[in-house]
Amino acid sequence: MNHEDYFKEAGIEAEKSLCLRDKCGAIIVLGDKIIGRGFGAPVNDDITQRKCHLNLINSKKPKSDRTCCLHAEWRAIIDAIKNMKDITGSTLYFTRVDEEGNILKSGEPYCTVCSRLALDNGIKYFALWHDDGIKLYNTKEYNDLSYEFHKN
Ligand SMILES: [Zn+2]
Ligand SMILES: [Zn+2]
Repeated sequence: MNHEDYFKEAGIEAEKSLCLRDKCGAIIVLGDKIIGRGFGAPVNDDITQRKCHLNLINSKKPKSDRTCCLHAEWRAIIDAIKNMKDITGSTLYFTRVDEEGNILKSGEPYCTVCSRLALDNGIKYFALWHDDGIKLYNTKEYNDLSYEFHKN
């Protein structure tokens, strides 16, 4: 499988998202094997726990915490650790999809929660599909860029 195939797999996860605001999905790949999967959802996949109806866009909460849901990346990382224990050297692919399941191109990195969790667990690359192509960020670079985003 190539990078586009892995993004398609992340897109399949994103289609399962239970968040009303954003359909996000992530997979973790080690070697050529998918070892973890996750989609955005309220706690325990319990839609009665959704907070999507709260309008958090203009709140003082950070950009990464304006969704009601567990991030797809957290869930993919935790799933991978449950499956493999050691996920050092793996790559995380993250994407959003639209209502029709089409992959939406990503903006610049900003989620310092996901970047820290990925870095702390030895994920080597954090992959995003931008308008100008697929980019594999070294996870340390991704973490630094995510903090840069919030400087102003
Ligand atoms: Zn939500
Ligand atoms: Zn995040």
